[in-house]
Amino acid sequence: MNNLALKYRQDFPLLKQEVYGKPLVYLDNAATSQKPTSVLKAVDYYYCNDNANIHRGLYALSERATQAYESVRDKVSKFIGATSSQEIIFTSGTTESINLVAHSWGRKNLSSNDAILLTEMEHHSNLVPWHLLREQIGFQIKFIPVTAEGSLDLSQLEELLKNVKLVSLNHMSNVLGTINDVKKVAELAHQAGALVLVDGAQSVAHMPVDMKVLDCDFYAFSGHKMCAPTGCGVLWAKKNILEEMGPFLGGGEMIHQVFLDHSTYAEVPNRFEAGTMNIAQVVGLGAAIDYLSEIGMDKIFAYEQYLLELATEKLQKIEGLSIFGQAPHKGAVISFLLDQVHPHDLATILDQEGIAIRAGHHCAQPLMRKFDLISTARASFYFYNMPEEIDVLVQGLEKAKEMFAYVR
Ligand SMILES: *Cc1c(COP(=O)(O)O)cnc(C)c1O
Repeated sequence: MNNLALKYRQDFPLLKQEVYGKPLVYLDNAATSQKPTSVLKAVDYYYCNDNANIHRGLYALSERATQAYESVRDKVSKFIGATSSQEIIFTSGTTESINLVAHSWGRKNLSSNDAILLTEMEHHSNLVPWHLLREQIGFQIKFIPVTAEGSLDLSQLEELLKNVKLVSLNHMSNVLGTINDVKKVAELAHQAGALVLVDGAQSVAHMPVDMKVLDCDFYAFSGHKMCAPTGCGVLWAKKNILEEMGPFLGGGEMIHQVFLDHSTYAEVPNRFEAGTMNIAQVVGLGAAIDYLSEIGMDKIFAYEQYLLELATEKLQKIEGLSIFGQAPHKGAVISFLLDQVHPHDLATILDQEGIAIRAGHHCAQPLMRKFDLISTARASFYFYNMPEEIDVLVQGLEKAKEMFAYVR
């Protein structure tokens, strides 16, 4: 296996540090990724050279800023296989992208007789916006069940799709790692006359995605999980759908004309980008896409599959450790429990070893509840993680076990 980390890890300044005198082992990539020098430099360069407000100024600086911002729309479009850069809307992240759909598409297209279909493995950001909207409209929310191994049970999908106007689902679970068969869900959903929104927060950072292949209708993701700064994200949607949608936030830049008593709105995509956007962060997203594309998303996926296999094999050998989420098709996210050791204690002990993992409900309380869990520990990988770091994790877990054996 081509060890990508050997080649690319040095691009990440933060990873060179020590924590409590131990080399940092960063395994919380499902929460956020670290940033390579090229992204940090692009943001720095933008502020040192091109910073101005976009779309407004009739001077060189503002034109450069606008160009820097708009060129990222093209990059994103190519990166995810969109048909046109006008289908790319910049948001602050996945959460805002989903709220945009709920507000702009949902308010107009859902009524109290309709249903939407989510899954039991959704992140809170694909649950709460729908709860909020339902308070106003009163539609039904149904769920695709999750099996014991952590896959979606699609056996009843056709039945579940009755009355459904929108299916909204995770592409890759941030808890179980499961990669869902979005293409298949989209096919059946479209047959039933429903649209499909995909939460791509995890997938887009770790595997090649192509809107033409997936054939969903909306795709939401965040920059910060794919090497870009916080505060920027994307909503992709098919252009004919966007054109039918009203604005989300109102303010400057999203208008055509404003009168004292009413306004008319700009064309797509500007209609959905109100106020001064996170310009520098979007520029950083462009640099992140350049960086990831140069490595190759297929290579990143393959390398992370190797890390996943290795880590799964080694963790399974630890007595008393159980992995939560064993779907055959999954990304490099491992949620687990260690007998008698509370996940929070585990994370604290590992921290003393320089290892950063997450413990908690991972913003998926309904999924936890379904499996009678309150929290799990989670190690999540990125292409800059080294196989050796898995050994450090295993040693840390063995140490935690020993400590707790004494306590008892
Ligand atoms: C991180 C994450 C989100 C939320 O992303 P934000 O960047 O916090 O808006 C939504 N869904 C999944 C699957 C995630 O992993």
